[in-house]
Amino acid sequence: MASLSNVPPAATSADSVGSPPAAVAQKLDLTAEIARDLIRFDTTNYGEGRSNGETDAAEYVAEKLRGLGLKPELFDSEPGRTSVVARVKGRDASRSALVVHGHLDVVPADAANWSVDPFAGVIKDGLLWGRGAVDMKNMDAMILASLQDVIAAQGAPERDLVIAFFADEEAGGVLGSHFLVKEHPHLFDGAAEAISEVGGYSITLGGKRAYLLQTGEKALIWVKLVARGEAGHGSRMHPNNAITRLAGAVAKLGRHEWPIRLTDTTEQLLGEIARILDVDPQRVGPDELALATGTASGFIQASLRTTANPTGLTAGYKHNVIPDMAEALIDIRSLPGEEDLVLAQIQEIVGSDMEIVTMHRDIGLETEFSGPLIEAVVGTLERHDPGAPVLPYLLSAGTDNKALSTLGIKGYGFAPLRLPADLDFPAMFHGVDERVPLDALVFGRQVLTDLFSSY
Ligand SMILES: [Zn+2]
Repeated sequence: MASLSNVPPAATSADSVGSPPAAVAQKLDLTAEIARDLIRFDTTNYGEGRSNGETDAAEYVAEKLRGLGLKPELFDSEPGRTSVVARVKGRDASRSALVVHGHLDVVPADAANWSVDPFAGVIKDGLLWGRGAVDMKNMDAMILASLQDVIAAQGAPERDLVIAFFADEEAGGVLGSHFLVKEHPHLFDGAAEAISEVGGYSITLGGKRAYLLQTGEKALIWVKLVARGEAGHGSRMHPNNAITRLAGAVAKLGRHEWPIRLTDTTEQLLGEIARILDVDPQRVGPDELALATGTASGFIQASLRTTANPTGLTAGYKHNVIPDMAEALIDIRSLPGEEDLVLAQIQEIVGSDMEIVTMHRDIGLETEFSGPLIEAVVGTLERHDPGAPVLPYLLSAGTDNKALSTLGIKGYGFAPLRLPADLDFPAMFHGVDERVPLDALVFGRQVLTDLFSSY
């Protein structure tokens, strides 16, 4: 496989936005160059339909795909909300197609908190910095660069690939992946599996490198708690104050300790962690085993139970007026299949007088950690980082794999990155000073090239 793993010299890009002097640009791998260009398109998605839009970034990736001889199609769910899909014919038509997808939008970044301009695509200290460097313009770039390598080396990937760059992932994908699977499902004809973000990165476990492969996602339920009371003068005795009642309910829910419940995936993960650390899982608790994964423990502890975090409060319009209504946003992530049960439990916690309005809801997923794709992924990683184990995990958040699952497509998180032990990579999803090592991008390009060439 070595010949396929050799990355050709980085191509120069004529259409990169505001490129630095040629001498600097030449040293950059194509992957970093594309990721940097994508970061410079501010595709901020503010949620609730407000967004800077993805069209410019979509046209950029479409141009890259055309450069590879492909025929990308662009789809606007609404003006400015553009997704791109291209099919790459594989050498073996008898194999099912693999969807390889990324999203083009990013969450907002408050530049005042960052040490660099979040939309400048700064290269510093061997890393690419910017909003989307981790989530997920890095993978978008790895997909494009590895596709170029596969086509250059052998003309076509082993099986059909459906390359998709979606809009709106950061607001649940309503205007991106969900729009496409509903309105244009034929784009995914013949596809059985998908790979995308939030998995495939390395962690340090017991002093050794290991890789997390995402084989499931929790369900998500975004609700609004609404407390109604009586409006009145701020100077009076006022027992039915909506803000007081809402604040009590929010505090109670925010402090609630949800019990641990293991699924097939988390049970397997904890068993593997115990085996690698050589401890008895009967004696070391789930949280303790999760903590042994270091930087990834924030993700993994949250995958062992429901979470319900208050994320917003709205009430009042004048300092001396008691409003008749107060609202709180709650971000609920339940284990797959437990959505209704969890909603009933939340009603009990906040009390029957609190109205719960569901704003957005999407299913959870869980896929077995076995089969040909898993074997191919594990085998590929073994060739590129020998001896590093690959562990399944349940993502505490969600991805566009939820939308693809409605077409019967099994989704995995596999955006391969070999990372230094001291980089807290999971914390950078939606975090400040998002950055990715340049050599990790090259690693990801090589691993994906190898996978697409052989699977
Ligand atoms: Zn993402």
